[in-house]
Amino acid sequence: MNCKGLIHIYFGNGKGKTTAAIGLSVRCAGGGGKVLFCQFLKDGLSGEINALKKVDGIKIIDGYEKIKFIKYMTEEEKKAAEIFYKNQFNDIVNIVNKEEFDLLVLDEIIDALNIGFLDLDEVLRFLENRPIGLEVALTGRKPDSRLFDIADYVSDVLKIKHPFDKGIGSRKMIEK
Ligand code: ATP
Ligand code: MG
Repeated sequence: MNCKGLIHIYFGNGKGKTTAAIGLSVRCAGGGGKVLFCQFLKDGLSGEINALKKVDGIKIIDGYEKIKFIKYMTEEEKKAAEIFYKNQFNDIVNIVNKEEFDLLVLDEIIDALNIGFLDLDEVLRFLENRPIGLEVALTGRKPDSRLFDIADYVSDVLKIKHPFDKGIGSRKMIEK
């Protein structure tokens, strides 16, 4: 890509945010692009990771194997997760500044920010100073309005129905 990359946000409480970011990654790689696909708040075992690893042009930085729901974490575990994610974010910044990528996906980063595992000012600073040509996609539930301000595409994935409301948990191959 030879123009300035744009910023995408997929947010909201409906299903399809991560799936959209995976779709964008596949399209970019299929078009000859280089993708850095990164997940926060996931353990690296979601089905898409296995599939994306096989795609030429996609490099993966996946999750934190010890991740569990925040409500079940002790203060110590929260601190350890925060250190892990802050390091992971620094690694991502270093990689995209060193190596040329066309697309960077930061899946679930919005939730990692809201929990306090990452610092919003730091993420905004990175987005403002991202390498020319780097397209960035962020996903998560409820973005801070400062993320809206900096984004070029903002897609609200609205839940009309979700089987979770009927007590159906996330299913392998469909949600994970
Ligand atoms: P997908 O990965 O299928 O594209 P998504 O990225 O839009 O979905 P997330 O908000 O990241 O959805 O949801 C991650 C997990 O949380 C999924 O396994 C999903 O089943 C579950 N989930 C989704 N909506 C809710 C909800 N309203 N309450 C509780 N859990 C939910
Ligand atoms: Mg998601």
